[in-house]
Amino acid sequence: SGGHDDEVSKAERANRAQEIYGTQPLTIFSKIIDRTIPADIFYEDKKCVAFRDVNPQAPLHFLVIPKTPIPRISEVTEDDKELLGHLLVTASQLAKKEGLDEGYRLVINDGKHGAQSVYHLHIHVIGGRQMGWPPG
Ligand code: 5GP
Repeated sequence: SGGHDDEVSKAERANRAQEIYGTQPLTIFSKIIDRTIPADIFYEDKKCVAFRDVNPQAPLHFLVIPKTPIPRISEVTEDDKELLGHLLVTASQLAKKEGLDEGYRLVINDGKHGAQSVYHLHIHVIGGRQMGWPPG
């Protein structure tokens, strides 16, 4: 039902994304942000969203991501300082809200050696069990 309307709104969304983000290829995280694909988004504000990782590595594992699709931490500039600070403060506040009072791990993977798989910057918040070190 409404197949044509669905196509139209998809095209409109794509146009809007193109306007906002320019020509860089969008990842699955942009589709999570604009609700094109489902995710367990449990926090959102003007600059970021947080949602549960689909493949959790611990009892609690969520991602904090900027709405603007910065590909990776190695590409940030001085202009991103306020946003990056906001992501960290938000990660800390959400970890507290989620009850991670024994501590937790924040991770940002970058590029090939960092084993980054989605090129939309994200902070992993991982907790609810004892972590090991070195991280492997
Ligand atoms: P990276 O390896 O790039 O640091 O982390 C990407 C993370 O995103 C992985 O932990 C992976 O499980 C998660 N992920 C990838 N695709 C999806 C998705 O469609 N939904 C959700 N909720 N998480 C995803």
